[in-house]
Amino acid sequence: MDFNFSPEEQAFREEIRGFLDANLPDPVPDEDPAFLQAWNRKLREKRWVGFSWPREWGGGGGDLIRQFILKEEMSARRAPALGLDFMGLTWVGPAVIKHGTKEQKAEHLEAILDGRSHWCTGYSEPDVGSDLASLQCRAVRDGDEYVIHGQKIWTTSAHFASHIFLLVRTDPTVSKYKGITCLLVPMSTPGITVTPIENLSGKASFNQVFFDGARTPVANRLGAEGEGWKVVMGALANERSGISESTEMQQHLDDIRALAKRAVRNGRPALQDDRVRRRLSEMEIRVEAMRLTGLRHLTDQINGKPSGSETAINKLQRGILEFEMSELSLELLGSEALHQGEIQHDALGWHGTVIGGGSPNIQRNIIAERILGLPKD
Ligand SMILES: Cc1cc2nc3c(=O)[nH]c(=O)nc-3n(C[C@H](O)[C@H](O)[C@H](O)COP(=O)(O)OP(=O)(O)OC[C@H]3O[C@@H](n4cnc5c(N)ncnc54)[C@H](O)[C@@H]3O)c2cc1C
Repeated sequence: MDFNFSPEEQAFREEIRGFLDANLPDPVPDEDPAFLQAWNRKLREKRWVGFSWPREWGGGGGDLIRQFILKEEMSARRAPALGLDFMGLTWVGPAVIKHGTKEQKAEHLEAILDGRSHWCTGYSEPDVGSDLASLQCRAVRDGDEYVIHGQKIWTTSAHFASHIFLLVRTDPTVSKYKGITCLLVPMSTPGITVTPIENLSGKASFNQVFFDGARTPVANRLGAEGEGWKVVMGALANERSGISESTEMQQHLDDIRALAKRAVRNGRPALQDDRVRRRLSEMEIRVEAMRLTGLRHLTDQINGKPSGSETAINKLQRGILEFEMSELSLELLGSEALHQGEIQHDALGWHGTVIGGGSPNIQRNIIAERILGLPKD
């Protein structure tokens, strides 16, 4: 692969930097909803939200290398994430572009880009997590509607989502992979009840979602009946690569470096401690390895190879790195950590980040079986 960016790509990088110099406030009020809406509108005018989505559906029609440069530059300046609907942009929209009807594209894509919709994802169930293909939530066809009965759990953002990207079993008589269907369901549908679950840090970010005879038109089915597994495999690969983007890890690394520069251990600057320096160097090497793995994945996509198993590599790496980074932050802060709510919150949050989108063991299985070709037993 070629690591050099072309003159046109470098010029695009400069354009982004110029835009950020002119428009990004310092500090960034990234908790202010009015600012985030206005920022999204500005980025939409430039067609930078959904940069690589087709222009006819409101995207930028751009290539993947420029999209990577855009994310890198935005992240380096700590600009808010591109777009307001993370799940919509990262996996629901791409799945609709690939498998959706014209009507579904018209209904959902621009809404995601504008941040008018907010998606959640209904895969896991009380007895179904890693072995997702065993899901039981049932949808039965009744004329031109599906009637849904069952339960989802750990559904992030369901308490304020407008839609759910839902996996259901439409045929229990065939092999477990073949009886699954994907539905795009408005959360306002009668028969859906959401119960928030409080997590370790005391916040409710995920939920239980109950379906009690909820009816949705067959027109809300994404892909053919029984083809949900194919839809979800692509969506999961996009979820894993979205979760593990190296640009975000670079930010964590910069934070921890800044912390190490000012931290004092046993009366001496922490950076004089060989162990701290070694750990920081190792982290730096691994973040760079993530960046290069991401670029290799990007090269594959440019060459027409769809996202697949290789996204497990960075997903696994990110989980391990986040854990080590939060441990080192707490260690560097010492008793000061007790007064740093955000750092404590991040440290607790690691337990969730590492599991969402598939646990580390599942990523290891994928790497072993599908990339290294090792036998299953
Ligand atoms: C922060 C967070 C957000 C989430 N958001 C969502 C969401 O929005 N929507 C959604 O549907 N789900 C969501 N989930 C659920 C998540 O997808 C599941 O928790 C995950 O897939 C693991 O499933 P489980 O919890 O049932 O654990 P299990 O599958 O029961 O696994 C338990 C343990 O066994 C190990 N294990 C299981 N099978 C194997 C195997 N074959 N080989 C080796 N080890 C194995 C696992 O690695 C794990 O350590 C979220 C989870 C978290 C933590």
